[in-house]
Amino acid sequence: MSGPLKLVLLGRQGAGKGTQAVRLAERYGALHISTGDMLRAAVAEGTEMGRKAGEIMDRGDLVPDEVMIGIVDERLAKPDAVEHGFLLDGFPRTVAQAQALDALLAPARLDAVVNIDVPLDEVRDRMRSRGRADDTDEAIERRLALYEEQTSPLIDHYEAEGLLVVVDGLGSMDEVFDRLVVAIDAARERS
Ligand code: AMP
Repeated sequence: MSGPLKLVLLGRQGAGKGTQAVRLAERYGALHISTGDMLRAAVAEGTEMGRKAGEIMDRGDLVPDEVMIGIVDERLAKPDAVEHGFLLDGFPRTVAQAQALDALLAPARLDAVVNIDVPLDEVRDRMRSRGRADDTDEAIERRLALYEEQTSPLIDHYEAEGLLVVVDGLGSMDEVFDRLVVAIDAARERS
């Protein structure tokens, strides 16, 4: 177990990824990099990129790969990310983004890619009850469909690279957190 953390968290929207990411980042002294948070900040600032991204997010669609790769490339190159390590939440979401991330980190590699696994019916119920501003029924369904279509192929991509770890996301927040820590520590021992 050495060096700063380099981790990707995967999971359907509503799997508890964001909450666990904040706690894990604290535990490992790493930066929590959420591309959704970065985009929402750009929307709030009213930048040109934010305006365009905001429309896409409201529909539940994905922001184009080149935009996302540019944002993450810039963020990971900053000295704090290099020094403290990172936990990516919401990126990559497509195979093209995953390939770009691999290239960006080379010759280094991720420690692990952790998939927080929660069944589709369960996340659908959770998302409907949490009511974030961009959580209309239509946008929820669109995001879940896009996850199956665009993001779940990443599971195979990372499995082929020997980086994938699956953690059961059902149970209390503390139970899931404990499982995540055990899985991440074991993966870092191996890496
Ligand atoms: P999140 O907070 O991760 O659920 O992201 C909210 C929204 O931001 C998503 O529904 C997408 O519209 C957009 N977004 C965030 N990250 C990405 C990404 N890596 N690729 C494309 N779109 C993204």
